[in-house]
Order: sequence, then structure tokens, then C-alpha cells
Amino acid sequence: MAEGEASESTDFDAVVVGAGFAGLYMLHKLRGAGFSTRVLEAGSGVGGTWYWNRYPGARCDVESVDYSYSFSPELEQEWTWSERYATQPEILKYLDHVADRFDLRRDIQFDTKVTSAHFDESAKRWLVRIEAGVTLTARFCIMATGCLSAPKLPEIEGVETFARATYHTGHWPHEPVDFTGLRVGIIGTGSSAIQSIPHIARQAAHLTVFQRTPNFSVPAWNHPLEPDYVAEIKSDYRARRELCRTSQAGFPVTAVGEAASVVAPDERQRRYEEKWAEGGLRFLGSFTDLLVDPASNETAAEFIRSKIREIVKDPETAAALSPRDYPAGAKRLCVDTGYYETYNRPNVTLVDLRKHPIERITEDSVVTAVDTYELDALIFATGFDAMTGALSQIEIEGAGGCTLKEKWNDGPRAHLGLTAAGFPNLFMITGPGSPSVLSNMVVSIEQHVDWITECMEHMRAEGLERIEPEPGAEDEWVELVSALAEFTLFPRANSWYRGANVKGKPQVFMPYVGGVYTYRQQCDEVAQSGYKGFSLA
Ligand code: NAP
Repeated sequence: MAEGEASESTDFDAVVVGAGFAGLYMLHKLRGAGFSTRVLEAGSGVGGTWYWNRYPGARCDVESVDYSYSFSPELEQEWTWSERYATQPEILKYLDHVADRFDLRRDIQFDTKVTSAHFDESAKRWLVRIEAGVTLTARFCIMATGCLSAPKLPEIEGVETFARATYHTGHWPHEPVDFTGLRVGIIGTGSSAIQSIPHIARQAAHLTVFQRTPNFSVPAWNHPLEPDYVAEIKSDYRARRELCRTSQAGFPVTAVGEAASVVAPDERQRRYEEKWAEGGLRFLGSFTDLLVDPASNETAAEFIRSKIREIVKDPETAAALSPRDYPAGAKRLCVDTGYYETYNRPNVTLVDLRKHPIERITEDSVVTAVDTYELDALIFATGFDAMTGALSQIEIEGAGGCTLKEKWNDGPRAHLGLTAAGFPNLFMITGPGSPSVLSNMVVSIEQHVDWITECMEHMRAEGLERIEPEPGAEDEWVELVSALAEFTLFPRANSWYRGANVKGKPQVFMPYVGGVYTYRQQCDEVAQSGYKGFSLA
């Protein structure tokens, strides 16, 4: 059956919203367990985040051999990643391969945007409405909507009036974009900008980067994967996957290490150099206390700043690129290829918005108090309404008539980051209150999908129709998530982790910082206890 030609039925055991990493595996797993399932996907193909984020230089910051499904030993043996960090096209190719290999497309309805999901108490079913006005019904509604899937424009006067070409990194055109000979502006210096800036600078006549807050970035040292290395990984992939599952962040890390605070300065410097040379997010694992001890963190922050000074020739630009007012890693650390070097190019200008904020955008320019920058193309690398944005865009109404958006007015509340009191038979894959964005997403997605499937199987076996967390259990979980975060330096940055990038969004640190292994154990204990903290009927 071709894409978009899923079967005629409108009633299912489960409706899954989204066909990214989470939705695809959820479908595969539910099908295997004998549950009729329909996946609804707004895009015209599979991939989720990797379908939409096609900006130049888009690449994963988790190593490809680990950023992949572990559920099928055959799949992991037959697929070979070409580079240390996979590009967006290669990840999309992988997900297309997965969809074909497991024959998933026949249960996916593409080009289908979900507008609302209401729980019908009398029918004990979710009524899931799509844009075309059609309603599907299902006993379970599973949100696989992703954590970074609701792109956000900046709140700048006149933002919608720019009459020349505009782009958002999170919603990039599918056709190639050619910036040759153009004056290009980019607003934002998060991961998306840091990856795309070196590529755009090589094409554009001039690139103007509008930076409000500098980010910490470490080199990727990306390279092709040697066949011997791939063979070695594949010879013991199962053990590597197990290491990921039992780790803090979903990476195969074995050594526990020591705290920066107990190490002599010379040794500390040596370790940072070593980690810098290794590249990637592991830099934050140089020492065990970098995300809990401000003084230790400052040693890492200063090391990165010293690298920026070394690389960027103009001292004023180097200073503007150096973060000073939040701990390294408290905002998502960026992983780059030639980002800081790009500022040595004569066709790149950094505009420090802390000195002169953008006052307005006109039909052809970005205007600050001191300058007007006329541009042929303007790129918004301004991020996402993270973790709750995609869920809030759907009117999700629970058993008592309250919507999830209303329930989350003061911040998200989700038991185990998976379920919400008042919303029976609703699951959120990598929802707020789970490790999600602080981990290798694929590891966390697989754990949630497995847990949800087992829960549904348990309910079927016991003849149960309805599961919902008890409000008390949910309160305890939300308190735990918040208390754990307070032990760390994460809350000290104005990050999207705590909703700080969206005007009016409650400032609550959303992800669970306790690590994927501890979290998995907690979820497993709940299941093994017969779903303690949940009411089942
Ligand atoms: P982001 O990290 O939220 O960065 C958005 C940028 O836009 C920030 O620099 C922000 O400045 C700026 N901005 C927003 N509104 C602005 C305004 N009104 N005026 C000026 N600047 C404004 O978004 P992102 O770069 O898309 O990345 C989001 C997350 O996606 C990452 O943290 C990462 O988890 C994930 N991601 C991963 C990869 C990867 O795997 N390599 C690549 C891309 C994205 P402020 O900081 O001052 O708000």
C-alpha cells in the first residue's frame, strides 16, 4: 500500500501521533503484540525531527553507532553508519529503511495533522480528530510528538514583515537552498545555528550572525568510520547497548571518574585537553562534578573560553562569543565543526545583541539601535517550544473535560513523564519528567515504548480497560523531578529545558536528571508492583 493509503478502518486499539524514532518503534512493537494501531503523521514521510530539520550542516550530536535502534540485532548488523556523527540525510535514510524493513508504512497516515484528542468517558475511547475533520477512535492514545518539534519564531517587532526569503532551521525547505552571492542574516546561536553557520558562510556573499546569548561549543572531530571500527562495534553490539541502557545519559560510558575539585590544576588541564581532542558531548564527562559544583564547572567553562580565544583572531569577537553568565552544560552543550573558525572569515560579522538588541525587523532589514542590516535572506535559528509545545498545539481533553494545556498552566505534570492524571489511557513518549532530552533519545524512546507495550499487554491479560496515574503519585513524581534538578547547575541557565525561551511559559525545569538507568529501574519497579501509583479499572 502506498504512503497515505492506510486501511479504511477508523477504530483502533491505539492511535500514535508522530512517525519519528518514537512513533515508528511504537508501531512495530504494538503490531508485534497484536494491537491494531494507526500512526498519524503531519509530514509526508517518516522521520519526525529528522524529516523537518534539513538545514545545511544538520547532524546528530550523539555518535551514530549509539543513535540507532537496539531492538533488532539483525537491523543493527545490516545497517552501517558512514560517519562518527550521522548527517540528517543519513539518519532519514536509516528511518526510511526501518519503515520499509519492518513494513511500517501501511499503518501510517501521512500528511495528517492531529488537531484534537478527547477522551470519551462513556465509550472509554479517545476520539482523535484530524485536520480533514475525520475522527478516529482508539482505546489508547500515544503521543510520539517529539521534544523539539514545535519551531518558534522570535518575538521581535515586524518579524512577519520581512518580504525577502525567510527560513526556520526547524522547518527547512525540502529543495536545496542556494545562498550564493546573497547577504544572509541568521538570528540565534544555539545548536542549529552553530551547525549551519559554517556551511552558510562558505556560500553567502556575507553572513551576519545576530547573537543574544553565546553558547558553549566543543568540536565534533567528525570523520568517516573505519571498517575495522564498525566491525569491532558489531562484534559485541549487544554489550554496548546494555552499557547505554545502564548508563547515566544513554552513552556507553564505563569509567566513573573523579571530581574536578579534587584534581590538581595541571592534571585538570591535561584531562580537558584530552577530552577536547576526543570531541563531542563527552567533554562534560571530563569530571564527575561539572554539573553540580559551580567552581568545578567554572574550570571547564574557562577552558572552553580559552579555546575560543585561541581560535578566534579578533579579541572583541572572541569575547562576545564567550559565555560568562551561566554554567557550561546548563544549556545544551553544542557540538560543532569549524564554528569558531568561521568568525575569522572576512565575510562573517557577529552582532552582539547584548550591546544593541534588535529593535525591529522591516521588509528588507534587521534594525538595532545603532545599525540597519539590509539582507537578501533571513534565517531564524530561534529554537522550539520544547518538550510541551507539540503537545499543547493539540487540544488534548481528558476525562473531566480539562485540557492538558490547562492542566499544565503552571508547568507540566506527568507521572513518570509518561502519563497524566485525568487523562486515562494516554501515554507520552519522552514526556516532561522523563530523561528524554538529557539522554540519548533513542535509548529513552525504546525504554518508554517497551514500558507502554508491556503495560497494555498487562491490561489485556487482566481484562482491564483503563489506566490513569493517581494524583498523589503524580505530585510526588513532579516534586522528585524538581528536587533532583535543584541538586544540579541546570536550573541556573535560562534554557529551553526550563521553558525560558518562550514568553509566558512557566519556568519549570522539565527533564528528569537522575539518569536513564535509575529512571528505568523506577519505571520497572512500578510495573513489577502491579502499577503502584496508578488506578486501573
Ligand atoms: P536553541 O538552542 O533554543 O537556540 C535558539 C537561539 O535563538 C538562541 O541563541 C536564542 O538566544 C536565539 N533567540 C531566540 N529568540 C531570539 C530573539 N528574540 N532575539 C535574538 N535571539 C533569539 O535552538 P536550536 O539551536 O534549534 O537548538 C535546540 C535544541 O535542539 C538543541 O539544544 C539540541 O538539543 C537540539 N539540536 C540538536 C542538534 C544536534 O544533534 N547536533 C542540532 C540542532 C538542535 P537566547 O539563548 O538568548 O535565548
